[in-house]
Amino acid sequence: MAKTIQAIRGMNDCLPTESGKWQQVEATIRQVVASYGYQEIRTPIVESTDLFKRSIGEVTDIVEKEMYTFEDRNGDSLTLRPEGTASAVRAGNEHGLIYNQQQRLWYMGPMFRHERPQKGRYRQFHQFGVETYGLESADIDAEVILLSARLWKLFGIEDAVSLQINSLGSNEARQAYKQTLIDYLSAHKSQLDEDSLRRLESNPLRVLDSKNPQVQEVVANAPSLLDHLDEESEAHFKKLCELLDAAGIRYEVNPKLVRGLDYYNRTVFEWVTDSLGAQGTVCAGGRYDGLVEQLGGKAAPAVGFALGLERLVLLLETLDKIEANDAAAEIYVTAMGDDTLAYASQVAETLRDQKPAWRVMLHCGGGNFKKQLKRADKAGAVVALLIGSDEMAAGQVSVKPLRNNGEQITVAATELPQVLTGMLAG
Ligand code: ATP
Ligand code: MG
Repeated sequence: MAKTIQAIRGMNDCLPTESGKWQQVEATIRQVVASYGYQEIRTPIVESTDLFKRSIGEVTDIVEKEMYTFEDRNGDSLTLRPEGTASAVRAGNEHGLIYNQQQRLWYMGPMFRHERPQKGRYRQFHQFGVETYGLESADIDAEVILLSARLWKLFGIEDAVSLQINSLGSNEARQAYKQTLIDYLSAHKSQLDEDSLRRLESNPLRVLDSKNPQVQEVVANAPSLLDHLDEESEAHFKKLCELLDAAGIRYEVNPKLVRGLDYYNRTVFEWVTDSLGAQGTVCAGGRYDGLVEQLGGKAAPAVGFALGLERLVLLLETLDKIEANDAAAEIYVTAMGDDTLAYASQVAETLRDQKPAWRVMLHCGGGNFKKQLKRADKAGAVVALLIGSDEMAAGQVSVKPLRNNGEQITVAATELPQVLTGMLAG
């Protein structure tokens, strides 16, 4: 036998038993973004490597060690997108969506990072995200947070996630704070691990969100970013807090929250959960006012977030908030004997004409009555339509309920929509 080929490690198949859940989650997301007037943007999965280097930052986990980068046949360096924001800005600049305009956009799709696969962490994963452009005051920061909060409410998991927020201030204020932080951390070098020592040189703010308890101890007494905000950022953050308070959104101000990408300024936030073990961040985002210009456009303010769909689905499963519902069809049409095939197909097609939302599966491949009913059961059907030569001759169909003890009845084919409507509702 030939050797079987397997999927790439960390890249999952989504099988029919699972895809129904994903469709439910995606449908709820589409409904919520529409309810806020956000429009979808779809960008290519592959971009120039430079796009991610210039936006995410050279000294970040993603660019240093997680990107899927390769040379194409022309010798150009391309990268499978590790996140969606850079692509949205690139597309927005390229097509003139951002300059002098306001945009509220969303996207959903696969992202790629070469990480160690584990629960909630994969090499191909999926993000839903929103990106807004041209809006600079705190009302839009509050709106994107409210939008995410509405999702938790609709999924029934609002008690399982909590919001952390922080402000990184302006680039200038952060630059000044950086030196203060470097001075402090340099005085405690002996307590820093290798990773933190490296970051102290390259990206000192990232030391603040070290997961190492010993480093965390040092960090606990570090000067706080929030005490070093510029006046405007401080007012912006205060306004955001007021708006969240007024909307009844609970949050914790976490001065150690810095996020792993370079492009953020002012507001940053994360929705975290205790229910998923180590991979507890479900959704993360913030303001990135400098990125549009950094990528060659005219300066424009921007806010957004990205939500990890695998972690959301895992969370919904863990909390029993989603059902597989892997039934393929409600109605299963059987046909006894070769000469009834055309009639059975016509009955199924007519039903699909009349009731486009109904899921009607036609038995194919013949076989005896018992075998066909078994298939109906496997498909998850609620009723089977039985078609033999008698039914065909009389322009009728026998209707057999499969999930209760209801009587089998025979009706004119023309009456099917009405008869089935009652049965499917019951
Ligand atoms: P983490 O700290 O868990 O590595 P991150 O800061 O790298 O997360 P972001 O770049 O902010 O994550 O991406 C936003 C969201 O996308 C995360 O909060 C998470 O839900 C999801 N996500 C990120 N990386 C992965 C991955 N490798 N597998 C599954 N989901 C992921
Ligand atoms: Mg990461």
